[in-house]
Amino acid sequence: TVGAVAVDIEGNVASATSTGGILNKMEGRVGDTPVIGSGGYADNEIGAVSTTGHGEAIMKTTLARLILFHMEQGQSVEAASDLGLAYMKSRVDGLGGVVTVDPQGHWAARFSSLQMSWAAAQKNTLHYGLYTGEHFTQSI
Ligand code: ASP
Repeated sequence: TVGAVAVDIEGNVASATSTGGILNKMEGRVGDTPVIGSGGYADNEIGAVSTTGHGEAIMKTTLARLILFHMEQGQSVEAASDLGLAYMKSRVDGLGGVVTVDPQGHWAARFSSLQMSWAAAQKNTLHYGLYTGEHFTQSI
């Protein structure tokens, strides 16, 4: 899965998610990725989320919308992402990862899966993490 969230200079947010699905998927399976609120969600009043991971679990918990709900309740992008992922683990034993942004440009890349590669470009700086949760920063 490749997911992206973005915020422009006026605070408009967007989310996009693309996937090949999971290994050995059933023929005709429609995963979480194209389901609004599961594979992604964007609302200019709150923020945007793109998700990856166990699609059935993501759909059962509408993970992207759940994270935005927590942000609506005042949680930061990091805390809201972690709360959503923790709920998905405890409620339906699902693992995954998310990228989240708010209209002010705060962003988070969080995951409960073993690994998730991610990158964030902001002003003249590239932040990225490879597989294990390390956080690297580089000028661009
Ligand atoms: N969420 C995708 C699916 O279940 C898989 C993935 O994120 O890699 O179809």
